[in-house]
This record gives sequence, structure tokens and C-alpha cells, in this order.
Amino acid sequence: MEMKLNRSEKLQMVGQLAAGFAHEIRNPLTTIRGFIQLFVRSDEVSESQKTHYDVIIKEIDRVNEIISELLNMANPNHVTVHEETDIVKLINEINILYKTEAEWRRVDFRVECESLPPVWIKKNKLHQILMNLVKNALEAIQEEGELTISAQVDPTESFIKLTVADNGGGMDPNTLAKLGTPFFTTKESGTGLGIITCYRLIEELGGTMEIESEQGRGTTFILFIPIER
Ligand code: ADP
Ligand code: MG
Repeated sequence: MEMKLNRSEKLQMVGQLAAGFAHEIRNPLTTIRGFIQLFVRSDEVSESQKTHYDVIIKEIDRVNEIISELLNMANPNHVTVHEETDIVKLINEINILYKTEAEWRRVDFRVECESLPPVWIKKNKLHQILMNLVKNALEAIQEEGELTISAQVDPTESFIKLTVADNGGGMDPNTLAKLGTPFFTTKESGTGLGIITCYRLIEELGGTMEIESEQGRGTTFILFIPIER
């Protein structure tokens, strides 16, 4: 018998499958990580062996991170609900969340917002987008720099225009062209899943994302978030 599923049912199935796989992969990984950590602490293990074990642990953590990001991508729509969202408050939450890391990297992390009307969106999704963009911005600033999130009502009054701007390394045309391709990364231990997740999530919010970047000068991500319900 042939099973006919519509698009949203298919998405839901992919999400459930991904969640199941993630669980099955994570459990043995946790066990492996635990035993490796025992080896690292053991007196019978030489320093050079410990270095190798540290690499194994780092790689296990990377696999875990990739699984988390895949899960976020497969996250079916119904998991989060629409709610009245105060975007300024959300931006300030992100600022607090990353303030310590920014200070540690000597990055001046600023928020510039005018008062905004509440929007009716899935708040978690915007939270996740901003986390990805802020993480990338901090990683793009090598030494010290500036990271600014600003938000205002777009002149059309249909959107809130939210920008995340950094004065980090920027992107060359080749990198810009490949942006949003799954697993595309220029980082040694990147996953290449951050931007594609942002594209997916902003689309689910009914908005769009634009990018301006210049090598050596910095990058600005511009989100247009619909105000209308
Ligand atoms: P990852 O951060 O794991 O590499 P992403 O999908 O988040 O994956 O980003 C993909 C690539 O896009 C990064 O490796 C980097 O080359 C580029 N990129 C993203 N954001 C920025 C930024 N703010 N400044 C410079 N390059 C960026
Ligand atoms: Mg990233």
C-alpha cells in the first residue's frame, strides 16, 4: 500500500526521524566520552597520549554540536507557538547572554533600538537566528571590535528592520556566493549549519534576510520581520 503524505506531514516525519537518530547517536557518544575522560585523568597515561585523548573529546563534542544543529533544522513547525514578542526585550536578552564572551574577546557589544510595536511571531525562532548571527559576528572579530544590534520600524511600516553588524574580517565574494550552502564553513571546527538555519527560520517567520559584507571591513545581516499578524 502506498502512503501519501502532504508536505507538512513529511516535514514532521523527517523531524521525528532526525530526533530519533540524534538520540541513538548521542547515547553511545556520551559513553565513549566518559571513558576517554577517565583515560585523560589516569596516572598511567603519558602526556602525549593525553593530547590525543583531548583531540578525541574535542571531536566528539563537534559531532554533538552538528547533531544539535541538524535537530534545530529538522525542528518541525508546531514545536514553538506564535506569541506576542517584544523584540527590544529579546535583543537585550541576547546581549546579556553574550556579554561575557564579547568582553572576553574585547568586543564592544552594543544595542541600538527605538521603541517598537510588539510582533506576533514564534519567538524561539528569532532567538535562534540572533544567537547564530551573534556567534558568527564574534567569531569574525579576531582581536577587538564592535558588534551592534539595532532595530527600527521599516519606512514601509510593514516590517521591523533588525541589523546585526560587525567590523570583523568580512567575506570574500567566493564565501558570500556559497553562504547558505549546507556544511559550508571557512572555520577549522565550524559546522556550516548556522546561516542555512537562519535562512530557514526567517522564512518560517514570514520575513527575509539580506547580507552586506566587505572583506577586511565587516559584515551586516539585515532581517525584515513582518509586523502584521
Ligand atoms: P560556521 O559558523 O559553523 O562556519 P555558518 O553557517 O554559521 O557556519 O557560517 C558559514 C560561513 O559564513 C562561516 O564559516 C564564515 O566564513 C561566513 N560567515 C558567517 N557570518 C560571518 C560574519 N559575520 N563575518 C564573516 N564571515 C561570516
Ligand atoms: Mg556559525
